[in-house]
Amino acid sequence: MAARLLDGKSLAAQVRVAVKREVEALAQRGIRPGLAVLLAGENPASRVYVRNKVRACEETGVRSDLYELPASVSEEALVDRVLALNDDPDIHGILVQLPLPKQVDAHEVLETIAPAKDIDGFHESNLGALLAGRPRMVPCTPAGVMRLLEHAGVPLAGSHAVVIGRSNIVGKPLALLLLQRDATVTLCHSKSRDLENLARSADILVAAVGRAKLVTGRMVKPGACVIDVGVNRLSDGSLAGDVDFAAASEVAGWITPVPGGVGPMTIAMLLENCVRAAGASK
Ligand code: NAP
Repeated sequence: MAARLLDGKSLAAQVRVAVKREVEALAQRGIRPGLAVLLAGENPASRVYVRNKVRACEETGVRSDLYELPASVSEEALVDRVLALNDDPDIHGILVQLPLPKQVDAHEVLETIAPAKDIDGFHESNLGALLAGRPRMVPCTPAGVMRLLEHAGVPLAGSHAVVIGRSNIVGKPLALLLLQRDATVTLCHSKSRDLENLARSADILVAAVGRAKLVTGRMVKPGACVIDVGVNRLSDGSLAGDVDFAAASEVAGWITPVPGGVGPMTIAMLLENCVRAAGASK
């Protein structure tokens, strides 16, 4: 069986067209959505992610201001920068690229962002709203996964969703979003016993770990939907997800590629959140 491909690149392009239209509509009201991106240090992967986000803003007419800060930046300096951006009426979204340098408590910095400008959805008040079933700013990667599932018409209600990885930015919020759509959710992590059998019982299997080929073909139930969030750099320099794509796509009903699956959707959801924040700002 050859799985159907969940093409994040093409769906993200459609979202970007809609975002561009929204930006034009906001211009009629005298609003130009503005995103501020804070990048501290020299992490090469972070630089690539930020460059992609800034480029996506340019393509859709969203203003983006990039603040590049040295690896030695203090927590106080970052907090002060965020506070200034909170008060800037031309900035509707603030993004702090993670990871931050060791001396900075990322939680403190993220909690300083005004919740209405927290387009990554990492502030405790936005995560709490999600937990309460009243989502406001939804973290972009989980939102992108849900959009992919909805667009493909993957049945959610009553299905068994197994999410591997319980981070605050991917696994936990995604589990809540799936629960909200009436899936029965199992959230797995590094201490979960018998991951193979848990995974094989999934109608929807999500891998968000950061370990290449963690999910083998044997772990996939025939016909299941496999969502690969992982991004791993292999020794030959190529990118791979957490799923053995060749083996899993023989068994699955749907599957996301890496690259071209969840990654482009994350950026598309970021743009949507920013434009929505701008629309709500006046
Ligand atoms: P993270 O914070 O490092 O969390 C990894 C999770 O995986 C943890 O919950 C950990 O369990 C679990 N884990 C580790 N080894 C495991 C194992 N052998 N079996 C089962 N679970 C295991 O990572 P993250 O920030 O969520 O990111 C996960 C992956 O997604 C990374 O590859 C990242 O690059 C990628 N990512 C991609 C996008 C995108 O747009 N495509 C966005 C964000 C992240 P414990 O909690 O027990 O330690």
